[in-house]
Amino acid sequence: MRPSMASSAWSSYPSDLPYTMAEKDTLYFELLDALQAGGCALCGLARKASDSYLNALLYEGVIDVPIRDELRNARGPCYRHAWQMVDKRGSVLGTAVIYRDIVNTLAKALQQDADAPRRWRGYREALARRLAPSTGCPACTLEQNAERRSAKTLLKHLDSAEVAAAYAAAGGLCLPHFQVVLSHAGEEATRTLAQWQEGALCRLRDELDELIRKHDYRFRGEPTTEEEAVSWRRAVAAAVGEPKPVNRE
Ligand SMILES: [Zn+2]
Ligand SMILES: [Zn+2]
Repeated sequence: MRPSMASSAWSSYPSDLPYTMAEKDTLYFELLDALQAGGCALCGLARKASDSYLNALLYEGVIDVPIRDELRNARGPCYRHAWQMVDKRGSVLGTAVIYRDIVNTLAKALQQDADAPRRWRGYREALARRLAPSTGCPACTLEQNAERRSAKTLLKHLDSAEVAAAYAAAGGLCLPHFQVVLSHAGEEATRTLAQWQEGALCRLRDELDELIRKHDYRFRGEPTTEEEAVSWRRAVAAAVGEPKPVNRE
C-alpha cells in the first residue's frame, strides 16, 4: 500500500515546492533540533531523510508502481544506503522483497540476447547497458533535497540568536555541508557563516592541541575534558561528515 502523503518519507518527495508559513516554521524547528543534537546538523537531517525513505520501503511496503520502477531502475539504493537499510531492525522480509525484484531484473537482462548469433559484435555493450542502473539512488536524491532545504532554512535564519548559539554549540557544519550552504549564500551571509564556522573550528583546534599535549608523558596527570576526549573524532567528522550511528535502528 502506498503511504498517504502525510506520512514520513514521501511528504518530502518531490522537494522544491514553495513553502507555506507552517512549513517554514516546521523547517526552522527541524533545523534547530538538528543543531541542538550536536555535530553537523545537515548530516543529521540528510540521514533523517534517507532513513524515513528506507523505513517506508521496508516497513510500509513498495507496491506503488512508480516507486518500485524507480528502485528497480536504480538497481536498489546505492552501496551506502543499501547497507544502511540492511542494518535496520526487522529488515529481512522487506529487503528480500525489494531485491527479489532486482535480482530477477538482472537475471532477465542476462538471458536476453543469450541466443544472439556469435558473430554479433554488439552483445557486450548491449549487456553492459541492460545491467547498469538507469537512474540514481532515490535515498541519495532525498538526502540532497534535505541538504538543500536545510541550507536554505539556515540562510534564512542567520539573524536568529538561537540559531547562532546552537550552531556554535554544535561545533559548526562538516566541510562538505558547509560548502553546500555556501553554494546558496550571498556575500553577507557568507561572511556571517565564515565567522561562525571559524569560531567552531578554532575551538576544535584548541581542544585537539590540549588532547595532543596531554598525551605527552610529562602532562599525563592532567585530566582531559569531555570535549577534548572526543575532539579527535569530531575533527574527522568536521572534515568528511558524521559517521553513521553505531546503534542498530
Ligand atoms: Zn555534514
Ligand atoms: Zn544513496
